[in-house]
Amino acid sequence: MTRVLDWSVRADEPLLAEKLFADIAAIGPDKVGVSRPAFSDIETASLNYLKWVAELHGLTAAFDEGQNLVMSLPQDENADRFVLVGSHMDSVPMGGNFDGLAGVIAGLMCLMRAHSSGARFALPVKVIAMRGEESAWFGPCYIGSKALMGMLDKSELAAAHKGDQRSLDDHMKRVGIDTAPVRAGRALLPVKQLLEYIELHIEQGPLLVGKDLPAAVVSGIRGNFRHKQIRCVGETGHSGAVPRAFRHDPVLAVADLFMRLDDGWQAITRNGGDLVVTSGMVHTDVDKDAISRIADHVDFSLDVRSLSPDTLDDMRALLTRELSKIEAERGVRFELDSANQTAPAQMHTRVVTGLQAAMKRAGFSPLIMPSGGGHDAAVFANAGVPTGMVFIRNGNGSHNPDEAMDIDDFLAGMSIIYTYLMEEPASQLST
Ligand SMILES: [Zn+2]
Repeated sequence: MTRVLDWSVRADEPLLAEKLFADIAAIGPDKVGVSRPAFSDIETASLNYLKWVAELHGLTAAFDEGQNLVMSLPQDENADRFVLVGSHMDSVPMGGNFDGLAGVIAGLMCLMRAHSSGARFALPVKVIAMRGEESAWFGPCYIGSKALMGMLDKSELAAAHKGDQRSLDDHMKRVGIDTAPVRAGRALLPVKQLLEYIELHIEQGPLLVGKDLPAAVVSGIRGNFRHKQIRCVGETGHSGAVPRAFRHDPVLAVADLFMRLDDGWQAITRNGGDLVVTSGMVHTDVDKDAISRIADHVDFSLDVRSLSPDTLDDMRALLTRELSKIEAERGVRFELDSANQTAPAQMHTRVVTGLQAAMKRAGFSPLIMPSGGGHDAAVFANAGVPTGMVFIRNGNGSHNPDEAMDIDDFLAGMSIIYTYLMEEPASQLST
């Protein structure tokens, strides 16, 4: 006989978590993994499912002006100021089920644990499941949270969907959002209402697996500057016939540049700085170039990220300097597209300290680490909301169907946030 699950019993929480993840995965399955497109019917259906679950368990749940789902204990429904806990509902195409969703379910389960045990949070808490964080669908990222903070600009609203080419504005209207205030830059959620923003997210790198730890507190979210395509133009020739002194080989020029950037990276890291540098796309012209031909140009991408705006400035300066040196030394020319830039976001010291203390009280040794990937938390932090994040151990990275998060690790992260919400903010705010 199937046992009826009782959410007031802690032992049933793993089963509840498994069920919530499985039910939502079943709403947006794809050829591999899940696809929950931003501002789509699948995203809406997933939010409606969570609304049903929340109401079934005695919580309040309603859609806000951005058509995000907001849930709370009944007594916190009309709170003027509150701690916002949440993450995003959408996934990348054929992505994993945990990126974003883990933070939403963690928030919901904190509410369920509090409600079923009759406990009260130290401060009013609202849990939000936001739409449209992933850049994979329209180009811009953090769409839902930027709209809430009045930071979504007109060019982003005009961005075309990767599939049907219709604008983001159209897609937002179709799910019921009035885009006029968004276009006017009015915050759909007044920032003064937010005491704090807290987000749980799977780690998208290998650190926690390597350290054999279930969770960590995030120190900050790296900002970046990114070039989608830089072209190095040289001069083609026969691989056997052109002596070295006559060559303007763009492949060697680009290799030279990478080594100089790597030297700069190592120097910054040696001095305790935070930096990651990646060229994920590097290619000659595959249709034209051959084993016996010196390529006439090389195209490559460049992604530079750091927690420090100064380090990003230093790397911009290094790039400019080395490009012109290499041009002079090797007789090549670099053509740069305009860079996409995002400012780093520092997590709030008080929140970080509080989450670390909660982590300790929940029985885990506190670890602090930066976030390499971007999150909605960066939008709230840069809008001036004291913000904190907890990372959960996850294998195989994210943005792919092989994300691997253990439910025990998820519950560890959820318990850290629950402990924090129960005890930390009030004691910290009163000081
Ligand atoms: Zn995410």
